[in-house]
Amino acid sequence: MLSSARMTNLIDGRAVATKVYAELREQIGNSKAHGATPGLAVLLVGDDPASRAYVRAKDKMCRELGLYSVKLELPATTTQRELLARVEELNRDDSIHGILVQSPPPKHIDEAAIVRALDPAKDVDGFHPVNVAKLVLGDGSGFVPCTPLGCLRLLRETGVGLAGANVVVLGRSMIVGKPMALLLMRKGIDATVTVAHSRTKNLPQLCARADVLIAAIGQPQFVSSDFVREGAVVIDVGINRVDDPGSERGYRLVGDIDFEAVAPIARAITPVPGGVGPMTISMLMANTIKACRQLTRH
Ligand code: NDP
Repeated sequence: MLSSARMTNLIDGRAVATKVYAELREQIGNSKAHGATPGLAVLLVGDDPASRAYVRAKDKMCRELGLYSVKLELPATTTQRELLARVEELNRDDSIHGILVQSPPPKHIDEAAIVRALDPAKDVDGFHPVNVAKLVLGDGSGFVPCTPLGCLRLLRETGVGLAGANVVVLGRSMIVGKPMALLLMRKGIDATVTVAHSRTKNLPQLCARADVLIAAIGQPQFVSSDFVREGAVVIDVGINRVDDPGSERGYRLVGDIDFEAVAPIARAITPVPGGVGPMTISMLMANTIKACRQLTRH
């Protein structure tokens, strides 16, 4: 339980996501007034329970917002060729503006080849090489991966000045760390970014120089108070299951940050759950609406 003093520095991802949805409802109304209903297709191959839950949540949110939603659940035996054929159908379908293939697909699927087969104009996850290149080039017509986009929105909501700020991004994955760093160093955002990873030396000292620390490493509660300068803004992307025999499910979710130790010294911090998580799906909806506007040119 958080004390009320600590609650004041909590970045509430659910509240920010609610604000985003209010903005998106307005944009959806606008699209519909132009005769276009933004449409998202989510492809799921296999029956991984976590993936199923993510796909259900995306479909539910589309419906709540009044978007057109297609959920394609394919058996684990689906071949690469069959999956490519479905992607190509969706590429050609004018009622679909965003397509994503839920990760991870079964082992026999070449995920990178599937991503390359997506029409980049419908790649709302922002993983296609064309969209990666657009992010590097600072071309705003591209799609930025949803989690870093959500983190940026959370930072903006805290009011922290990013221009010239020292930001340390912990983790260099293509889904979070790298796009996060590229986004923050963009002209107009102008942060000074350091990217750290598993081979980085003197990690606590490096992180402790940061005005903003973003952790995306998938290591439960790894970042202790030694990593955090007093007054820093801390964004915890990590979602990790740890055993908790006392809970109904037998586990609980924790981030990459040791929240109890870091919260008292941070200027602002995201909780897990309820921080970055809710933002990711809201940014997927935002990217779908953007794709619709770009494809229908209004
Ligand atoms: P990856 O496993 O793809 O990447 C992890 C990165 O962290 C790698 O760059 C790795 O370094 C680095 N790393 C791992 N251990 C350490 C360490 N001890 N010290 C320093 N760096 C380390 O993970 P993702 O980026 O996909 O995800 C990271 C976390 O974010 C996970 O917990 C995931 O569940 C969560 N996540 C949450 C989302 C959300 O919506 N909230 C969305 C996506 C992910 P190296 O490159 O050297 O191996």
